[in-house]
Amino acid sequence: MAYAYDDQNIFAKILRGEIPNKTVLETDHSLAFFDIYPQAPVHVLVIPKGAYVCFDHFAQEASDAEIIDYTRAVGEVCKMQGVKDGGWRLISNAGEAAIQEVPHLHVHILAGRPLGPMLSKGPT
Ligand code: AMP
Repeated sequence: MAYAYDDQNIFAKILRGEIPNKTVLETDHSLAFFDIYPQAPVHVLVIPKGAYVCFDHFAQEASDAEIIDYTRAVGEVCKMQGVKDGGWRLISNAGEAAIQEVPHLHVHILAGRPLGPMLSKGPT
């Protein structure tokens, strides 16, 4: 089934300039900004400007130009934030099981402290 995009989500409002954000980087197709509730010394969100719910949606429907821009934007933010030394993590939550709070594709770039195991322990 196709993904349905809710244009009232908070990142859509950020993209329309209806609410403020602390921008790290803006490109033709992407926007990176600091997470409002940082969980690490570096916690930046990178979103595409297009209306995509999650990574799967984006990977299936975005243009090559959007995908290249978004991937390069992630790399540029990593460089700007100096995450290479010490290690870092890229997370993209999608849907209910992953507890995605905002239904607009975003990746979290986290760094600056030990980040612990990939997942909390639970049944496999
Ligand atoms: P997720 O659970 O992966 O959907 O993560 C959503 C993230 O968006 C959380 O880490 C929130 O702290 C963050 N967030 C929510 N509202 C804002 C906002 N207005 N500006 C920046 N980050 C936000």
